[in-house]
Amino acid sequence: MLPERGIFLEKAHSGELRDLAHHLSEAITHCQLCPHRCGVDRTRQTGYCAQTDKARLTNAVVHTGEEPPLIEGAGAGAVFFSGCTMRCVYCQNFGFSQLNTGFDHHDETLAEIFLSLQKKGVSNLDLVSPTPHLRAIVSALDIGARKGLTLPVVYNTSSYESVETLQWMDGVVDLYLADIRYTTEAYGMKYSGVKDYWSVARKAIREMFRQVGSRRLIIRLLVLPEGINGTREALRFVYEELSPKVHISLMSQYFPVYKALDLPPLNRKITAREYEEASALLDEFGFENGWLQDFS
Ligand code: SF4
Repeated sequence: MLPERGIFLEKAHSGELRDLAHHLSEAITHCQLCPHRCGVDRTRQTGYCAQTDKARLTNAVVHTGEEPPLIEGAGAGAVFFSGCTMRCVYCQNFGFSQLNTGFDHHDETLAEIFLSLQKKGVSNLDLVSPTPHLRAIVSALDIGARKGLTLPVVYNTSSYESVETLQWMDGVVDLYLADIRYTTEAYGMKYSGVKDYWSVARKAIREMFRQVGSRRLIIRLLVLPEGINGTREALRFVYEELSPKVHISLMSQYFPVYKALDLPPLNRKITAREYEEASALLDEFGFENGWLQDFS
């Protein structure tokens, strides 16, 4: 599923990656990298995501908990960036995604972090919520390429993304690991603080599919209590508008944390029946590729 060498190397060797980093440096002086379109100059102030022009991250680890193709070798080289473009009430990473814990890094240091993961034998760079940090990431990939970085790049996203920004990543990203969180705008607003999640995510995922096709797109569906995530509509969209060959990762691991602890029905885990009903939809539609999680 993943190539041995990242596609970004072609752009690094041609100089396009350096040009893209310059372009992104300019772009973040009136930042519209994500659908919030704050328009702030991030060299002077922060927007919704609370990020400056530096890469801020909480951790970079060898991660063996991702989908099977991502944990070949020693595992995925997961880089957990601070800040997020959504405010999910049940976010398990709320410390760094919403409370902005972490440390700022210069581009050279971020490149060294990527290289250190490569030395540990990971099979990819798994960039978690990367969008606010794209300027630094592209610059670090360019620096890293000159020092021997070859890892393929995984874009691990909520799918609340702007199409224009994703287009800049065409030829840089090898695989998109994309959530579908909701298929009802009211739930996106109520539980993640964005009013247009589903309309934005559909456009974003269509663009990801245009770039990498079904071979390098994994759609993640985290099953939520009482069907809040909209499994059926999400699968219908993927099946009818993308392809039955897209890989689906149906996740049973939801457990309440953070603000969800006081917010029924999100204040409980899902039941075995809820997961079975969601799983049955994969067969009903006839999806060919993907993974279920062991409910227990
Ligand atoms: S990346 Fe941050 S500053 Fe830029 S538009 Fe999105 S939320 Fe606003």
